[in-house]
Amino acid sequence: MYRDAAARSDAAVLTINPVFARPGEATALPRFELPEAMMASDTAYQIVHDEAMLDGNSRLNLATFVSTWMDDNAQRLYAEAADKNMIDKDEYPATAAIEDRCWRMLADLWHVRDPDNTIGTSTIGSSEACMLGGLALKRLWQERRRAAGQSTETPNLVLSAGVQVVWEKFCNYWDVEARYVPVTEDHLVLDGHELEQYVDEHTIGVVAILGQTYTGLYEPVQQIAAKLDEIQEATGVDVKIHVDGASGAMVAPFCQPDLTWDFAVDRVNSISTSGHKYGLVYPGVGWVVWRDRAACPESLIFHVSYLGGDMPTLALNFSRPGAQVLLQYYQFLRLGREGYRAVQQASIDVATYLSSAIAELPPFELVSTGDTIPVFAWKLVPGERNWDLYDLADRLRMRGWLVPAYPMPDALSDLVVQRIVVRMGLSRDLAELLLTAIREEVDFLERLSAPIPRDAPRTNFTH
Ligand SMILES: *Cc1c(COP(=O)(O)O)cnc(C)c1O
Repeated sequence: MYRDAAARSDAAVLTINPVFARPGEATALPRFELPEAMMASDTAYQIVHDEAMLDGNSRLNLATFVSTWMDDNAQRLYAEAADKNMIDKDEYPATAAIEDRCWRMLADLWHVRDPDNTIGTSTIGSSEACMLGGLALKRLWQERRRAAGQSTETPNLVLSAGVQVVWEKFCNYWDVEARYVPVTEDHLVLDGHELEQYVDEHTIGVVAILGQTYTGLYEPVQQIAAKLDEIQEATGVDVKIHVDGASGAMVAPFCQPDLTWDFAVDRVNSISTSGHKYGLVYPGVGWVVWRDRAACPESLIFHVSYLGGDMPTLALNFSRPGAQVLLQYYQFLRLGREGYRAVQQASIDVATYLSSAIAELPPFELVSTGDTIPVFAWKLVPGERNWDLYDLADRLRMRGWLVPAYPMPDALSDLVVQRIVVRMGLSRDLAELLLTAIREEVDFLERLSAPIPRDAPRTNFTH
């Protein structure tokens, strides 16, 4: 199968335990070339299964926002629906109808004014959903400018320096100038402060993040909108908002129902979310909904045939899995508002419990508490010590816990924070084990870095 294995470096060769290979099958494979011959499906399965086993334990991964658990019936549905292609509305009209129902449920949850006159879609995740929201803003701006006989050169988008990387991609891929409002100690989120210095007649929109990835903090959509009202009054420039609710748009409606952030705010043009984050579905599904049909230019919409009729679609991808959309519908039916509230509130309770316990450890100070989305971060209090949060992340990783440390964006990049994302599955019991691990490792690092007195007995730092 691998003709001159001996000639290859070890790194290029995948060796197979002879126990798994059938008689006559190769026990070495090229790692980076398509194998010449076939192999038994059991052997192939075993190879992929074993390699995938080396991935981390998702239960202990407190870095990701993405769902890592669904119940048995969801697994069953997933297996049944694995072959469905979302784009093929003719072949899978029932899945298409369910997609339609899902985004309409979200439109309703986000207080769209006129449910019969709006548009939305599923996507592969928030990244695609944000791109579509941003593209609609850009196209609206272009069409408005063209109609007024004005230049459509040099569009810009105003956003916090703490945005998720998708917005950097959006600006790069679609030739839009990114105007980052710096993150500072006093303004950790985009809150409208000095917004007039960034917005001008070339601004296609402002991004508000509901649940910043760095800290979990919400950007105050209503306050940003009020500032844009002032700007419009002073300059005549009318700028709309896209809410990047990747996490928060599936938490705030249930756990902070009094917060005004969605289509209730007139300037909100569109809202996106990740079905695979707090929408509680496996990757990858996202959603985007527009305020009304006028908020999403007709020129971005394609019309496909659907049961002999016409189905408007807009997306960057063509083919993509339909199963996740069915799983989203399953969760909507299974959980309802009550279930989503219970699940998210349980995560917020664990997050705030963890953050208050971490706040009690002398080296730490909280940056956020986890009472928005169940995500919080902390930093080291200034002082003499020979270790930092990267060391703590390493120590925790040795015990299986993934708790990343990273610098804050641009102006604050000297500030390193460490973050925990609580998802369904991080129970109070597991949280207790995590706290024990954090306390022990902090203790270890403090003792390790303290000067050892000459006559001190030798200490064995194992647990
Ligand atoms: C995760 C995230 C994204 C990207 O979402 P994907 O679903 O991973 O594509 C965008 N914005 C924010 C605020 C996020 O948290």
